[in-house]
Amino acid sequence: MSKEKKEKDLILKEPFSRRDFLKTLSVATGSIILGTSSAASGYKEIRGYRNSYGMLVDLTLCVGCRSCERACNKVNNLPEPDLPFDDATVFEELRRPTAKAYTVVNRYDIEGYSGGPVYRKIQCNHCNEPACFSACPIHAYTKTPEGAVLYNVDRCFGCRYCMIACPFYIPAYDYESAFEPRIMKCIFCYPRIKNNKIPACAEACPTGTLTFGRREDLIRLARKRKKILRNPSRYIDHIYGEHEVGGTSWLYISGVPFEDVGFPTDLPEVPLITRVKGFLSSACGIHCLACALRDGLCSSKTQV
Ligand code: SF4
Ligand code: SF4
Ligand code: SF4
Repeated sequence: MSKEKKEKDLILKEPFSRRDFLKTLSVATGSIILGTSSAASGYKEIRGYRNSYGMLVDLTLCVGCRSCERACNKVNNLPEPDLPFDDATVFEELRRPTAKAYTVVNRYDIEGYSGGPVYRKIQCNHCNEPACFSACPIHAYTKTPEGAVLYNVDRCFGCRYCMIACPFYIPAYDYESAFEPRIMKCIFCYPRIKNNKIPACAEACPTGTLTFGRREDLIRLARKRKKILRNPSRYIDHIYGEHEVGGTSWLYISGVPFEDVGFPTDLPEVPLITRVKGFLSSACGIHCLACALRDGLCSSKTQV
């Protein structure tokens, strides 16, 4: 058994396995195809946890070295990338996390911005009230009190509702795992957090771009940092993730508008839970799901 599998088994041991689920698959599949509200039967309320952890990402400090990517691949036993981590040609295209890279760094050259190119690290934002969790009909996702949103491969039957529901287009499907449906995404280094270690990407970052701590403390730090610098031209007055979709564990401060570096800025401040529930139980939701599955989903999602 691989180390990754062992870790997931340790932290995600739950009584309801995919084998159990398969016994009732025919019933569930019938409901989903017919577009009944059973598609959203996994829905249940969740609230963000007080005292949970978070990560503050200061985009003004990131130099695009990709040490975080390297550390993430190593700690999660992911394969080496096609191009070496120090190959800057990867910045010629905008990338998204994949089944082989839970985090990627993109470069944005912004006209009129004197601070040089802006680099942005992308991974799961570990939403306080995750849409992936709400969309999953069989509760394959868990929001832990520590803040990490985890996924249980033993429950997943491959419907990929979570991929459609995520407002940040994060969950990636492992198409190479032919017989075992598997979603791949950042797990906020949950085993390390449980062992009082900081996430590997934060440990590896040489510039202090990534600050790990209690979410509430990080929000205070972000505000204070902006006040201490007394330099309103350095940071725009917004902490991305403080309120978007009900708040996320990963928070960002930036010197440029967030839309200029690919953040979706049209998201509501309320969680997407109820919208996801309604969407996935509608005829439109079922149609979109069918299209997504047909087209391999990720290729149709271009926002980065
Ligand atoms: S960013 Fe997407 S995958 Fe991550 S917790 Fe939020 S909804 Fe789920
Ligand atoms: S928290 Fe862990 S899993 Fe997530 S991006 Fe950082 S190193 Fe990767
Ligand atoms: S390690 Fe730090 S500075 Fe380097 S790319 Fe990642 S976040 Fe940016």
